[in-house]
Amino acid sequence: MLIELENNLPEKVSVDLYAKLLDLGFRLTEVKTQSSSFLIGHGEGRDIRSVGLLPGVKNVYELSEPNKLVSSKWRLDPTVIDLGEGVLIGNGNFGMMAGPCSIEGEKQIEHTVEHLIKNNVRIMRGGVFKPRSSPYSFRGLGLEGLKMFFAACQANGIKIITEVMQIEQVESMYKYVDIFQVGARNSQNFNLLEVLGRVDKPVMLKRGLSGTIEELLASAEYVFSSGNEKILLCERGIRTYENAYRNTLDLNAVPILKERSHLPVIVDPSHGIGIRKHVERMALAGVMAGADGLIVEVHENPEKALSDGQQSLNFDEAERLYQNLRILNTMNLKSEEEIVF
Ligand code: PEP
Ligand code: MN
Repeated sequence: MLIELENNLPEKVSVDLYAKLLDLGFRLTEVKTQSSSFLIGHGEGRDIRSVGLLPGVKNVYELSEPNKLVSSKWRLDPTVIDLGEGVLIGNGNFGMMAGPCSIEGEKQIEHTVEHLIKNNVRIMRGGVFKPRSSPYSFRGLGLEGLKMFFAACQANGIKIITEVMQIEQVESMYKYVDIFQVGARNSQNFNLLEVLGRVDKPVMLKRGLSGTIEELLASAEYVFSSGNEKILLCERGIRTYENAYRNTLDLNAVPILKERSHLPVIVDPSHGIGIRKHVERMALAGVMAGADGLIVEVHENPEKALSDGQQSLNFDEAERLYQNLRILNTMNLKSEEEIVF
């Protein structure tokens, strides 16, 4: 049972309510986010009406699913992530994130920012802490790289999404980041998720390498129940028996996640297929599947990229993608009657 509480409850009301619910036989988990307060009541077969009438209770929802706070069954309006300066994601606001796999240096950042401004893209991706399968691969420029990244983006109203790998990095990264990305390999790092639940900046959770949809929602539930409602879900491909491409981009996940959760869903076609010449098609397919945004790897010179060059679009290819996305998004807005075949 999900119990939504009135805002700013007097101490006495909330103590009495808690005691009453314990009396009724519930085991309770308290959740306090930046904007709301909840109690999650664990225990079967209680009478929901008796709870709804208790002082301090705004709404009660009987939810059978394990992941309650992220469920669309009680929060009917889709969540909108507001990054400031008019950059919104969700509920009809398309979030386009583009940039290199890794931040490599000042010139690269500058050129990418110019490319994004030219194309009206407001969010830049770029890793500075890189999870690499081999310890001998380029592991990122670290916090110094992030400061460079921030300086160039802040001056131009571009928002930053970058991966956080460890709890210890959260505090030092905080002021330079607009969205914390949790990578596929950390998708079930529950301690990291709890710490990100205590920050007030959005978190984008990538699906685990072999993660199920339920597990991705459970990871989001960790963040929400620790206090942070600003969550984006990302389908980035899963590992299957198929080895003709890097991962299997599971676009089925998009409508299913959107049906089950109120959180925005982002598609990452770059890691999803891992083959540059097919990224654009899969990006467009992601939009048709209902994605609220895309995260795409773009590099000024993919052949020379220090990581994931094989799946990075160059600036011209990226421009074509943005143009096609605009056409597709406009089409999506039209009613079916208007489109004649
Ligand atoms: C990335 O975005 O560059 C990345 C490492 O992604 P993932 O965690 O999905 O592999
Ligand atoms: Mn990458």
